[in-house]
Amino acid sequence: MLVFEAKLEGEKHQYEKLDEAIRTARFVRNSCLRYWMENKGIGRYELSAYCKVLAKEFPWANKLNSMARQASAERAWSAIARFYDNCKKKAKKKGFPRFKKHQTHGSVEYKTCGWKLSEDRRTIAFTDGFKAGSFKMWGTRDLHFYQLEQVKRVRVVRRADGYYVQFCLDVERVEKRTPTQKNIGLDVGLTHFYTDSDGQTVENPRHLRKSEKALKRLSKRLSRTPKGSKNRAAARNRLMRAHLKVSRQRKDFAVKLARCVIQSNDLVAYEDLQVRNMVKNRRLAKSISDAAWSAFRDWLEYFGKVFGVVTVAVPPHYTSQNCSNCGEIVKKSLSQRTHRCPRCGHVQDRDWNAAINILELGLRTVGHTGRLNASGDIDLYLGEETPPSKPSRGKRKPKQ
Ligand SMILES: [Zn+2]
Repeated sequence: MLVFEAKLEGEKHQYEKLDEAIRTARFVRNSCLRYWMENKGIGRYELSAYCKVLAKEFPWANKLNSMARQASAERAWSAIARFYDNCKKKAKKKGFPRFKKHQTHGSVEYKTCGWKLSEDRRTIAFTDGFKAGSFKMWGTRDLHFYQLEQVKRVRVVRRADGYYVQFCLDVERVEKRTPTQKNIGLDVGLTHFYTDSDGQTVENPRHLRKSEKALKRLSKRLSRTPKGSKNRAAARNRLMRAHLKVSRQRKDFAVKLARCVIQSNDLVAYEDLQVRNMVKNRRLAKSISDAAWSAFRDWLEYFGKVFGVVTVAVPPHYTSQNCSNCGEIVKKSLSQRTHRCPRCGHVQDRDWNAAINILELGLRTVGHTGRLNASGDIDLYLGEETPPSKPSRGKRKPKQ
């Protein structure tokens, strides 16, 4: 699946229609979820049938294109399926499906109808009951290279700085690569973004520190504004935009680095860290770098698929304690930056030692690859943009 994204430009009243469609999609998803809670044991098929009931009962639900309603039911189902999957795997966090609340970001997904592209593919019109009309699109050059029949889904996404449209194309992205005969293990550290099994390090991106400061400042400002005031809404929007900027920078960093790592290795091993637990950490700086790591890992797995490179997530136990030379367990605290083995006398930087252990483990466990979602796809395109295949030159900024 390939995803292209463009910004939508329209009138204010048109955006309000998009909001209505997004709200309705959320309503359908939540209703399906409730239906499942009240009738445990029902499956995908029953949820999809329930969409018709909703459309009959609620006139606004009927306004949403019928396939978009189905897509919303499918979303509810994928949350349920993920929960079942986690139960089966006996994961600690089962992730019981939750109702979606109103948020700045939200989306509605159309499939092959309910929308229409203009002849020159510069505008898109939404043709379902909400009658949002046609929007100019910014940044869809890539769309010209594909047939319309390849567009399987069209998603409207609302972010803090506007409305976007994503085209999901039924194209398997496969690229050729000459084998490099190189394998690599990566260790996420506190001091570096990662250290690899050759002893090379990659620093934490500089922008993280800067964004951290900006986020702190903006969230303080938000907390000082009175609730329900106009100033509060404006402050919240500024904070959301800052978050958006961080996530775009993070993605940019992750995509470039991941592509580079994948292209120069035949196998990449890393630790299977429970990032979700890590993000809960109270320290903002740490949570930002954890998010960066998690994005990097997602893109490693994505490019691994694209370029046919094996990616292995190994269990993170003892990778920093074992001696990479003789296997002896050498206990050390977090502050001990150097590994010194009392048995064989091996001395090495702590993270480098860990990276070698990770690679060893990876080579031993090939065949068991990274985390996949319930449907077996890497769920990268949900709510996130995909990197353009080429850097877009001279891209103009859309008007606010
Ligand atoms: Zn040793």
